[in-house]
Amino acid sequence: MKISEIFKSIQGEGINTGKDVVFLRTALCNLKCSWCDTKYTWDWDNYDYSKEVKELSINQVKDEIEQFNIKHLVITGGEPMMQADDLVELLSFLKPDYYVEVETNGTIVPKKMLTDLVDQWNVSPKTSNSNNPLEMCEDSECYTFFSNRENCFFKFVVENKSDIDEITKLVKKYSISNEQVLLMPQAQTKEELATIEGSIASLANSNNLGFSSRLHVKLWGTQRGK
Ligand code: SF4
Repeated sequence: MKISEIFKSIQGEGINTGKDVVFLRTALCNLKCSWCDTKYTWDWDNYDYSKEVKELSINQVKDEIEQFNIKHLVITGGEPMMQADDLVELLSFLKPDYYVEVETNGTIVPKKMLTDLVDQWNVSPKTSNSNNPLEMCEDSECYTFFSNRENCFFKFVVENKSDIDEITKLVKKYSISNEQVLLMPQAQTKEELATIEGSIASLANSNNLGFSSRLHVKLWGTQRGK
């Protein structure tokens, strides 16, 4: 597998914020968000692939995860779904002992073999503020697939009030229930987060949507492996 990092921390985003977890960060991504905070997983114009990516066997990945002795795994990226077949094999070793969350940008529909092994999907679809071509961000099949799953939460990254129309249109178009939606501030530093999070929380509240802060940013700013 192509792996960026494996580490123990607390879940900083979403409904399990604050929980003690192991992160498996896969390398590679199929999008190029302008504000991506993990460009070291895919931006080979600015990062050195040979330094950033460890090519590990599935057994090596399993052993590294198991050494932490924490039975809650968060698979993130990059875009983990780019290595979906390897994830099926990895999770077939770790289940049923582990609770498994997968963070994805919602552009690749998972196969049933993988969905059977995942407890929770944290889908973070990208919108105009990511500066990706919109046709790459909105995959109808994927939206429909995830919106029909009770174990899926949609986490939209919000910069300001002008993002809300686009998000609420997507929520309506794909019949996503409000309980499945979290708005999350676009912020990479403690200072940026402190400036923006109050207004994004109010925006979520006034639109009857959920809110997620970024606890890891609040605690550790831009430090990696946290
Ligand atoms: S989808 Fe995620 S990992 Fe990929 S570029 Fe966007 S923020 Fe970064």
